[in-house]
Amino acid sequence: MSRLFAGTPFDIPPTCDRCGKMEEDCDCPPLEQTPNWLPANRQRAKVRLDRRKAQRVVTVVWGLAADETDLRALLSELKIACGAGGSLQDDKIEIQGDHLARVTDKLQQIGYRVG
Ligand SMILES: [Zn+2]
Repeated sequence: MSRLFAGTPFDIPPTCDRCGKMEEDCDCPPLEQTPNWLPANRQRAKVRLDRRKAQRVVTVVWGLAADETDLRALLSELKIACGAGGSLQDDKIEIQGDHLARVTDKLQQIGYRVG
């Protein structure tokens, strides 16, 4: 059975809604892999030191919107930059130890406004 509009100008092959290319030529990333992260330079991060029990100090990054920031990726970058362990606590990033200067530097290097 032939298609209703086969051979007519209405026989439009499937094209990508975003780039307009034929679907087989489309290089657009799948939509679910492009979350709406806000660019770093449009965000302001805050950094502080928290003193925990047993004189333990952690460096806390806060003030970033969890739904607009890839906090997991940021956590890994900060852990590498500081050579320290860390974790996500809700929408806050905690790096073990006093790394205020290094965390601030790294955030600014990525493009965040800090303070
Ligand atoms: Zn496309």
